[in-house]
Amino acid sequence: MITTILPTYNRAPLSFVRGEGSWLIEADGRRFLDLAAGIAVNSLGHANPALVKTLTEQAQALWHVSNLYQIPAQQRLADLLVAHTFADTVFFTNSGTEACELAVKMARKYRFDRGETDRTRILTFEGSFHGRSAAGIAAVGSEKMTRGFGPLLPGFTQLPWGDHAALEAAAAEPDVGAILVEPVQGEGGIRPLPDACLKGLRDLCDQHGLLMILDEVQCGMGRTGKLFAHEWAGITPDIMMVAKGIGGGFPLGAVLATENAASAMTAGTHGSTYGGNPLACAVGGTVMEIIADDAFLAEVNRKAGLLRQRLEGLVASHPDIFEQVRGSGLMLGLKCRAPNADVLKAGYDEGVLTVPAADNVIRILPALNIPDADIAAAVDRLDRAATRLEAAG
Ligand SMILES: *Cc1c(COP(=O)(O)O)cnc(C)c1O
Repeated sequence: MITTILPTYNRAPLSFVRGEGSWLIEADGRRFLDLAAGIAVNSLGHANPALVKTLTEQAQALWHVSNLYQIPAQQRLADLLVAHTFADTVFFTNSGTEACELAVKMARKYRFDRGETDRTRILTFEGSFHGRSAAGIAAVGSEKMTRGFGPLLPGFTQLPWGDHAALEAAAAEPDVGAILVEPVQGEGGIRPLPDACLKGLRDLCDQHGLLMILDEVQCGMGRTGKLFAHEWAGITPDIMMVAKGIGGGFPLGAVLATENAASAMTAGTHGSTYGGNPLACAVGGTVMEIIADDAFLAEVNRKAGLLRQRLEGLVASHPDIFEQVRGSGLMLGLKCRAPNADVLKAGYDEGVLTVPAADNVIRILPALNIPDADIAAAVDRLDRAATRLEAAG
């Protein structure tokens, strides 16, 4: 029988009525430590006072105007993003998927305007995730994502993860115009691209004149301990997709680009009714002010070290349940030996929320400002969850 909500999600029987920092609370008062953070969205915790203040002040003044007019909150956020990154220009969206759509359009139009209309193919990597739109699923190409949704948008080739020879051969093909990659795969199971590989990809793009498109929807906005993950490798992309953490829970995404990569996107070539809306950009401005601060990012790195050390201990004490900790900053994955769905569920029973990912991983994506005491409480709860699973045998 059909449900009133289209049943595309397998939902846990949990329902929260309030959030406070790193905690989510059910109607009966039961408290859960939130290591999911809306899948890396609630970057500054729930009901963050600075974000609540910005949102309510903007709500009193102006909710929405069209992009037919100047939007000061949008201009301010764009200036902040440009000041702190490689980018010369920004387009705002409402989600990561929409950012993917524009990144693909931008890469294609770039070639068109240069008269290189046969260089439309974009190389992507197996195990990636770029959203559920026509371009997003075609980019990833997996059976799981695309089955039944054909005909797929043409122009993407997926390369195996870690196969340098295949990558070099593909990048040299004359119809390829861009490479699209996540510096740290999220849905794919928290798989970081080593810095040397990201550097190598940049070199390959330069060698063949390819646009480098980075999908930092999940790994960006301070998640890895730098404002953007690619900074660890000392490289810059041509185009970057951002979303999730940038709104701190308010729907907001962006495409950042160099002047060169964006040169073909002139008036009338793209648009969005809501993208860059005053409410979203006001909140995004406050999120950026807080996260793009060296002292804040230093704290993210310190907390990441603490959490990682505690998780290594957890793996050592429960070798039948866990295999390995991996990831970068506060974007961590626990590769499980027990089925990750069982670990997730045992976590619910012990009052801790994590997110499943491919490769039998559970993701640990806390608020970037999670208090040290909550890190300790979180690992204690994961420890109890593992003990519970061992007892169930
Ligand atoms: C979540 C995600 C997307 C899609 O973003 P939505 O806001 O869900 O549309 C794209 N790329 C990556 C890497 C993501 O993690």
